[in-house]
Amino acid sequence: MAKYTDAKCRLCRREGVKLYLKGARCFTAKCPIEKRGAQIPGQHGKKRSRGRLSGFGIQLREKQKAKRTYGVLEGQFHQYYVGALKSPQNTGEVLMQTLESRLDNVVYRIGFTQSRSLARQLVTHGHIKVNGSKVDIASYLTKPGQIISLTDAGSKFEFVAPNLNEKNNPAKWMSRKGTEGKIDRLPTRDEIGSDIKENLIIEFYSR
Ligand code: SF4
Repeated sequence: MAKYTDAKCRLCRREGVKLYLKGARCFTAKCPIEKRGAQIPGQHGKKRSRGRLSGFGIQLREKQKAKRTYGVLEGQFHQYYVGALKSPQNTGEVLMQTLESRLDNVVYRIGFTQSRSLARQLVTHGHIKVNGSKVDIASYLTKPGQIISLTDAGSKFEFVAPNLNEKNNPAKWMSRKGTEGKIDRLPTRDEIGSDIKENLIIEFYSR
């Protein structure tokens, strides 16, 4: 019998790797990639092979993987690339730091939620404050030194409350006490720790 797997898992299957879009479930045997491997989604996905990708195809897939990991649409993603290009620092590293600075990602990295999509939900529903003021824009770019906190209502959600214990550490470039976290500095590329090959994304846009 066909089994329903929702859109997020289809994105991982399309990219052929785990993008960890569904929080705790991604670390269990329920993950479709763990169960059946990275089968291409769609009616004939089982029979289709990925084939050999051209150089362009490899670059394109890497860009799509990054966009899907961070939940960013093409226009915004391209803007991040243009912004990174203007920086005197390494373009790829700045692009990754920009993606990591998004408020939804920061809420996830601080450890308030187990996935970026739940973090985005918290932000857009008005449960996140930056330096004491409500910010409900998921793409808001945070800066080192800012304090990110949960509203009282936000801290009581069942997908948030269990994450607030001391054992659930934030990323190394942040600190957290209870419902309040601080961005201590920008992350280094190593600390971001994703298998995204940003050099391929830069090559894709510089064609
Ligand atoms: Fe679904 Fe998570 Fe597995 Fe991706 S990693 S296929 S989102 S369960």
